[in-house]
Amino acid sequence: MSKVVIVGAGHGAGQVAATLMQKKYGGSITMIGEERWYPYQRPPLSKKFLAGEMPAERLYFKPQSFYEGAVDIVLGNRVTEIDRDAQRVSTATGSDYDYDDLVLATGSRVRTLGVSGSDLAGVHYLRGIDDVDGIRADMAPGRRIAIVGAGYIGLEVAAVSAKLGLDVTVIEMEDRVMNRVVSPELSAFYQDVHTANGVKLKLSTGVTGFSGSGRVDGVKTTSGETVPADLVVIGIGILPNVELAEDCGLAVTNGIVVDDHCRTSDPHVYAIGDCTWHPNALLGSGLRLESVHNALEQAKTAALNICGEDTAYAQVPWFWSDQYDLKLQIAGLSKGYDHTVTRGDPDGHSFSVLYLKDGALIAVDAVNSPKDFLQAKPLIAEHAKIDPAMLANKDVQLKDMKIRCQNEVPK
Ligand code: FAD
Repeated sequence: MSKVVIVGAGHGAGQVAATLMQKKYGGSITMIGEERWYPYQRPPLSKKFLAGEMPAERLYFKPQSFYEGAVDIVLGNRVTEIDRDAQRVSTATGSDYDYDDLVLATGSRVRTLGVSGSDLAGVHYLRGIDDVDGIRADMAPGRRIAIVGAGYIGLEVAAVSAKLGLDVTVIEMEDRVMNRVVSPELSAFYQDVHTANGVKLKLSTGVTGFSGSGRVDGVKTTSGETVPADLVVIGIGILPNVELAEDCGLAVTNGIVVDDHCRTSDPHVYAIGDCTWHPNALLGSGLRLESVHNALEQAKTAALNICGEDTAYAQVPWFWSDQYDLKLQIAGLSKGYDHTVTRGDPDGHSFSVLYLKDGALIAVDAVNSPKDFLQAKPLIAEHAKIDPAMLANKDVQLKDMKIRCQNEVPK
């Protein structure tokens, strides 16, 4: 009987198993995860779950019963070695598992801040369920929380903390929030919203250390100020878990290198999700993505190829972030844009920013504008060229724009 072994038991791993089951894969499926949880969704960890608005059971990708009799799930165990010649993985507890096809779904880990005091009690990172338990135990109305990093996770934690009545300060090295991913206009919008909710933003400010004896009581910054804090959450990015692949000689750059079939440099080894560096024909480039959509779609691609269905991955990347009453939905990659167009009403908290490069639509950031988000996606996939003045016209739906452009309808 053929054997698939999945390393990791996160979001992507769960989808690999689900697709193999759906396709009635005839062999055995084993999933080995370092965490003690069945595959679960991480996005709520900085949103509703952190806010106490979602029970833990709803985090799970599928109920435990879903896997029963179909997938052998080994939890709380780490794969420590891959022997590609023998097609076998070994774990920290000394057990070995043979495979015909191996899927690396090892995800990523938090980037840590190597400054003095970062081991003090009350200094947290946020990646898994246990991290949320630790943060929530320290959160209480009126307590002072300092958040290091104004990316998605930092800002989502800020929004939840403000809502829970904490005194919130966000410290960010760059001169605007979400600098890496959104336009200056959108950063300014989010900065205003956070400020209006009582969050103190310290931009262009680095962290040099944490003060406190045994427990954190402040964050030392490059401006010389120490921000008082009862707890700290650090959200300064992630690192892909590539070491297992690297150690067994697979090609690795900024991620495990895979082709559009999610195959690594060894045809018996696939990799999916946060840990991969993959090509995307729609974007014409290689990239690493940190998103649920990418993990799920690559998982399906790998599983279908294991089942003998020749399938290539080519998707418009998308992502979302919930802060206060704002749902931000992002499709495409705005890197390299030369022009932006705003549609809708920023003051009314419903608008989108469209990013163009050489006249073609490459990305959208939609704030409380799900229709724009959905309708922009196919246009991004096609690299549609649309007159910016027409794009700004909220009376014309995005889905109708290409046709109108082709027909030269006057603006
Ligand atoms: P993971 O879900 O990280 O799973 C990898 C698993 O492999 C982990 O459990 C890890 O412990 C395990 N593992 C690693 N090495 C080994 C080993 N050697 N042996 C055994 N097990 C191992 N994405 C969005 O699209 N939208 C969002 O709003 C969003 N919000 C997020 C909020 C938070 C707080 C976080 C942390 C992430 C968020 N993400 C969001 C990102 C998203 O969760 C990830 O992109 C997604 O989880 C990637 O799935 P994955 O399967 O590649 O990796």
